[in-house]
Amino acid sequence: MGGTYSMGFADIHIHTIYSYDATTTVRGVLKQASSVGLNVIAITDHDDIRGAFDARELSSQYGVEVISGVEINTRDGHLLALFVEAMPPSGLSLAETLKHIGGLGGIAVAPHPFNQLPGSLSMDNVVSTLTKPALKNVLRGIEVYNMTNQPFDERVQRLSDYLPFAKTAGSDAHVYWAIGTGKTEFNGTTAAELRTALESGTTIPHPYEEDIMRKYLFNWLRRITMRKLGYVSDSPEPDEAIQTQRMDLRFTKKQRTEGKSKKKS
Ligand SMILES: [Zn+2]
Ligand SMILES: [Zn+2]
Repeated sequence: MGGTYSMGFADIHIHTIYSYDATTTVRGVLKQASSVGLNVIAITDHDDIRGAFDARELSSQYGVEVISGVEINTRDGHLLALFVEAMPPSGLSLAETLKHIGGLGGIAVAPHPFNQLPGSLSMDNVVSTLTKPALKNVLRGIEVYNMTNQPFDERVQRLSDYLPFAKTAGSDAHVYWAIGTGKTEFNGTTAAELRTALESGTTIPHPYEEDIMRKYLFNWLRRITMRKLGYVSDSPEPDEAIQTQRMDLRFTKKQRTEGKSKKKS
């Protein structure tokens, strides 16, 4: 930490209301990311890249650099695609998905891995990429801190010491205050420098505080209930959750359906 180099902080696993289960608007995410001092964020909505594009367009107003990303539902579990300008198809194997991401010039991180839940990549999945250069050059990181994976984090950290991947920490934020609670430190302050750090395995993951999960769940439940009723808020302030904008659910639903049926690469 500190020293002669300038070190940056990134949260590379953040959801916006383009994810069906998130409560955070694009502007609200940028506002919060900026106020907690992040240099770089990646927007990684579930099978949807539009939130990332929106955020990037607005990012200069908030002084935060945005990486366009997406959390893809592969057949083997979730996968974060970063630095992509198009959405890789969902529902493919990890290997096939990595090839798509590589073709798009991006790299990937395994989020909340090794917990034996259906949404998570297994140790076998991840290790099998190491023998194939075309995959190894794309899957560069594993997320060793993710509050939704908290019971398994310690195991992931131990295993990651034996694996040649960059270690990352992501908030997996679906509510504002979670943004930046899991953060990745890197040499430099820009998205390009973060990419270099991921590719050279020099990132430093920083955990959230202990026992954050319950607070997260409570806050998320409150906000997701509001969202189901059709209201979202740009405001990260916890007590302003009720001062919300009417959300056009039909519009979002239509976009989601289109996104699903389109499936073009
Ligand atoms: Zn996930
Ligand atoms: Zn996620």
